Amino acid sequence: MIQSVRGRLALWHTLVLATLLVVFASLSYKILERALARRTDAYLAESTGAVALDLATAHLADMADSLAAEDALGEFGVRDLAFLVFDDGDRVVASDAPLPNDRNAWSIDTARIRAAVHGLTGAPRFATLPAGRGEIRIYALPRRSVAGRRIVVVGATPLDDQAELLEEFRTGFVVAIFIALLLSLAGGYALARRSLAPVVAMSERAAEISATSLHERLPVANAHDVLGRLAQTFNDLLARLDTAFEHQRRFMADASHELRTPVAIMRGEADVALSQPERDPEEYRGALRVVRDEGRRLSRVVADLFLLARVDAGRRPLQPTEVYLDELVAECARAARGLASARGTTLTYTMPPRPAGDGGDPANDWPFVGDEELLRSLVMNLIDNAIKHSPPGSTVTVLLERDENAYRISVADNGPGIPPEARARVFERFFRVDRARAREARSDSGGAGLGLAIGRWIAEAHGGTLDLVESSPEGSRFEIRLPRVRQEAPAPVDVELAGAAHDAERLSAR
Ligand code: ADP
Repeated sequence: MIQSVRGRLALWHTLVLATLLVVFASLSYKILERALARRTDAYLAESTGAVALDLATAHLADMADSLAAEDALGEFGVRDLAFLVFDDGDRVVASDAPLPNDRNAWSIDTARIRAAVHGLTGAPRFATLPAGRGEIRIYALPRRSVAGRRIVVVGATPLDDQAELLEEFRTGFVVAIFIALLLSLAGGYALARRSLAPVVAMSERAAEISATSLHERLPVANAHDVLGRLAQTFNDLLARLDTAFEHQRRFMADASHELRTPVAIMRGEADVALSQPERDPEEYRGALRVVRDEGRRLSRVVADLFLLARVDAGRRPLQPTEVYLDELVAECARAARGLASARGTTLTYTMPPRPAGDGGDPANDWPFVGDEELLRSLVMNLIDNAIKHSPPGSTVTVLLERDENAYRISVADNGPGIPPEARARVFERFFRVDRARAREARSDSGGAGLGLAIGRWIAEAHGGTLDLVESSPEGSRFEIRLPRVRQEAPAPVDVELAGAAHDAERLSAR
């Protein structure tokens, strides 16, 4: 089989052309053959009719007068046309036919003609008979002579010229078709080569592109044709890959940076503690406290990174169960109270009012189908951030509300707020508004800038949203919206900025 696309295209093209040419040539040949035969027959019939008429009008009282008849035939002396007259005994009465010898270009076989016209009475008859190397065409016309005897006048003509013409025609067609096919093969190949040149250029360029040169693009010869669109599609794919690789590179760089810092602090603390043979127990205790805090921070960052990696790889589907949001938020608020009081902050959680005496009416429940661990982690992260950024003596308010379509969980604080230019970016991975400020706060619970990115993924994976709805120097308010009507458990969601923080480890690290 021909391997190259160009070769195959040229071959197909030639095959189609060959079929067309052969059909066309055969049709033309048939038309020509029939036209020639018709003309020959018409000529033969007309001439034979004229001879028969002439013989009749010559008052040949008796066809036995062969000489007179032959004289009459001789008057017609047309080249390539011969006439014979048979009587009712099939005897040749007169003939001007060339005899079979070398000087005559054609000859006739009287016996064959006799056999062909034997018993002919009614309608005239055409016949093609073999003669010498070729064939002859005869036209037999039965007549009554004046004397009442029946005669048959036969006109004969050789078919050599026709056969020769048709032969030339056939040879001409074969040669012409052969040349046309050769040209078509060469032309088709050249055309295919030319048309596919952009594909070759694309594949050569694509072969050069590697992970380190994803910014390169394939050449787009003509953006409006199919190959141009193909190149454009590849280029779009390359652009997406480039972005994804860049994203991944940044993620790796940020992740290693976040991991390096606590490890360096721990090593530094250990080096300092060990630098002298003896130290005050309180100093050891202080060093161990730092090591413990950094270890917690480290395990939290590792847990977050691990979850992000799993989510990015599509291997962290939601595990939905029915949860009651009022209970879930209340538990989070209770768990965060210790942290809040350690920082001198007050945490208030406004429980949704339950009508007095509803007797546990399910209509007053706050059911939601979702991944409990992830939802808990989301709420905890917001409360944690709010406490972390609140000045001592201020209040963090957690509020749970609902309308017809959605549940809303908002967490508000009286912290320094988030500058307008950073409000959208706080949801990006590893983004911290003020790294110095965060570092300072990190002594006990500073994060790696992953919490809100993960939180937003959790909300979106549940069909909801997480937004910063208010932020000013007087404080910030984050709001989670979760849809109320969910027919089915949420399917695993592939969100690009995906992340999840759920582990007990993460919660315990807070
Ligand atoms: P981290 O784990 O570092 O807290 P987050 O993604 O939760 O990361 O938050 C990203 C950044 O957004 C934080 O570093 C902080 O600068 C800012 N931020 C988050 N919540 C608040 C808040 N309630 N008040 C002020 N700044 C906040």
